[in-house]
Amino acid sequence: MNENIENSQRTPFHEIDLIKLAKQYGTPLYIYDSEKMKDQFQKLKNSFLDIQKLTINYACKANTNLNILKFLKKMGCGLDTVSIQEIKIGLKAGFLPDEIIFTPNGVSIKEVKNAVELGVRIHLDNLSILEQFGEYFPHHSIGIRINPHVMAGGNSKISVGHIDSKFGISYYQIPHMNQILKNTGLKIEGLHMHTGSDISEIQSFINGAKVLLRIAKDFPNLDYIDFGSGFKVPYQKKDDQTDLTLLSKYITELFQHFCKNYGKIITLIFEPGKFLVSESGCFLVSVNVIKHTVSTIFAGIDSGFNHFIRPMFYNAYHHIENISNPKGRFRFYNVVGYICESDNFGLNRKISEIREGDILCIQNAGAYCFSMSSNYNSRYRPSEVMMIDGKDFLIRKRESMTDLLRNIVEIQI
Ligand SMILES: *Cc1c(COP(=O)(O)O)cnc(C)c1O
Repeated sequence: MNENIENSQRTPFHEIDLIKLAKQYGTPLYIYDSEKMKDQFQKLKNSFLDIQKLTINYACKANTNLNILKFLKKMGCGLDTVSIQEIKIGLKAGFLPDEIIFTPNGVSIKEVKNAVELGVRIHLDNLSILEQFGEYFPHHSIGIRINPHVMAGGNSKISVGHIDSKFGISYYQIPHMNQILKNTGLKIEGLHMHTGSDISEIQSFINGAKVLLRIAKDFPNLDYIDFGSGFKVPYQKKDDQTDLTLLSKYITELFQHFCKNYGKIITLIFEPGKFLVSESGCFLVSVNVIKHTVSTIFAGIDSGFNHFIRPMFYNAYHHIENISNPKGRFRFYNVVGYICESDNFGLNRKISEIREGDILCIQNAGAYCFSMSSNYNSRYRPSEVMMIDGKDFLIRKRESMTDLLRNIVEIQI
């Protein structure tokens, strides 16, 4: 018992007995602490107290578990969605259509029409779809995703606001856009940008914001400006994070100045995903095998990039601790998965002695982890537990063979 208390103190999940949860629910297991989500939401809100109308929309592709959506709705969040399915999950979670923004990229006009039928707000980001949209829904109010041409983001895969990105309508194309608006009678109620994930450079935000506000002057019917997201959270001690105080100082000043000249106080929207949920999550795995090679000790765990793809896909660092032997002698380990190709969680990590059967805790597992998981190697996806007021709730069951075969149509061969 004592050991468990000490173990959990080494993680951000202070009061949570992670080993007990691992035993109770089995591994691999995602655990989300709702307290941390609440803290992050409050922190963001409190940083922008001087903005009269502030809306925080949770970008739910980070983690679409219905219960997380319900929790963030209860906190006062709106929702940012990128697919018709995310919209439907959002509606099921209790968000009103009006509180949901659909910001798709590269989807068909058919999907956009479906979203209109569901009554949500629409952000369009290309001229072809804008034109088709205007034919179907003349005089409709929409938002436009502008490409502000700023290079930002922690990784080229998630830098989405530069000049050659597939996202947004370039601000050089605004004359063309205006012709489409004139032809169709579409009304622009909001302008939006989202330049990437993991931005630590305040200057990127500011540059993008300035571009957007400069454009906004020429649109007289705006209800809101949406500055997107990209807020960075620390993944390891040496990591910096978005300096909210500084960001708020600049953005508030720019925005208030804008509203004054515009003659109307409009809403400012942010749409964070990672910021709200990343640190709230941890991923518990068991060690299947220890294997020594000539120069390396491998710890092979009961998971792989099918459950947790960020280290392999983005080269992301996720901190790993051995919570069942925190006082062991520290050694260097390669923590690897069981997928039959290279499958690393962390290389050359200094971790307290790992023994077969130990439980490792992988941090920052709340965002873009479960939501990017798959059944590769015909493995079941993990179950998920959510902590609310210190109590644990199972919010997703572990899969079974039935799930793997659910949509298979067996034919005579
Ligand atoms: C992914 C995404 C976000 C959230 O980005 P984070 O880095 O997770 O905060 C916000 N807006 C849009 C349009 C997105 O596609």
